[in-house]
Amino acid sequence: MELLNIKNLDLAGKKVFIRCDFNVPMDEFGNISDDRRIRSALSTINYCLDQDCAVILASHLGRPDGQVVAKYSLVPVARRLQHLLKREVLLAKDVIGEDAIFNASELKPGGVLILENLRYEEGETENDKELSEKLASMADFYINDAFGVSHRAHSSVEGITHFFDEKHKAAGFLLQKEIEFLGKIIQKPVRPFAAIIGGSKVSGKLEALINLLPRVDKVLIGGGMAFTFLKKLGYNIGASLVEDDLLDEAGRIMDEAKKLGVKFYLPVDLVVAEKFSEDSISKLVSAQEMPDGWMGLDIGPATVRLYREVLNDVQTVLWNGPMGVYEMDKFARGSNKIAHFVADSYATTIVGGGDTADLVQRIGVDDEMTFISTGGGASLELLEGKILPGVASLMAKGS
Ligand code: AMP
Repeated sequence: MELLNIKNLDLAGKKVFIRCDFNVPMDEFGNISDDRRIRSALSTINYCLDQDCAVILASHLGRPDGQVVAKYSLVPVARRLQHLLKREVLLAKDVIGEDAIFNASELKPGGVLILENLRYEEGETENDKELSEKLASMADFYINDAFGVSHRAHSSVEGITHFFDEKHKAAGFLLQKEIEFLGKIIQKPVRPFAAIIGGSKVSGKLEALINLLPRVDKVLIGGGMAFTFLKKLGYNIGASLVEDDLLDEAGRIMDEAKKLGVKFYLPVDLVVAEKFSEDSISKLVSAQEMPDGWMGLDIGPATVRLYREVLNDVQTVLWNGPMGVYEMDKFARGSNKIAHFVADSYATTIVGGGDTADLVQRIGVDDEMTFISTGGGASLELLEGKILPGVASLMAKGS
């Protein structure tokens, strides 16, 4: 598959719209806790600025669901970007309102404008044509550098591409790099290939798991994900995170794994707590001895030992989703120990998803990983073999 390449565009002195993924994690004080996604977009932005382009940047942040919600404003992103680019970054007051349209039309070569949170507009996630057209009308060229949302057919990702011909749109350097790297892994992963899947977005990840099964040799489950499986197996899971309507789906995944000969591992012990809180009483129990009303918030030391053993001979590791509530020190040990082990291994290690990337960065092993993808859902869908809508619309004709 051949992506339209930014280097083939005649950008000099023109206005360029770049869809970025600035959906960065924030701490409880509203500070950006990991600016990897912003830094990752700098190559494309600087490439355009070096060619005297006027650059219009657009991103979503969080889920304001079509409303203007102050805590999801891109103000902190614009400030960080200004610091990183070492030049003025103007933040529009809206997305396609008077202020954005006026500032976009007045933007001079070398200028940088960032639109407000795209998801302040209801139409963004609905791939609304009118919104796409208004966004497209701001610039001569369209660049998608937002790998993290390329699996979504949204206005600024998919719809907008229909307003530019092949000479006026392309993938940015980040998108290109992600697609190239993950594409190679899909075509020829060095085996054994293990997927470590954790976190809390059970519904999204179960579908990914079923599609991943034919491609991997081992699956290791952790985090909130585990309890839907454990419950299906008849374990008492207390008050742990669970999606009851997905129990059958979880059963189907375990059956399918058995049929395909994929080794499927679940936690054998857990750190459990009475409340979802750092200062809750907690204890260590076997997965079969969950006390009523308690919740599992991390994998235990026996699971860590088991998972290390299982990962020992693996040549490729895909890791998406933490093993526990890593944001609270008390429930971070399982994730931290697995992170150190994966980082130390000689396997090709791919970390996907904002939280998992944040986790490996917090403990300083990010540089030890082979590849940190800026997109969790997007990298999973790509590795499942799906064509991402934001990528499909940037393929050269005939590829
Ligand atoms: P995801 O976005 O699906 O990768 O999920 C990441 C989130 O899952 C993190 O914020 C973790 O705190 C959370 N998480 C991990 N393990 C658990 C658990 N056992 N119970 C509840 N939340 C969890």
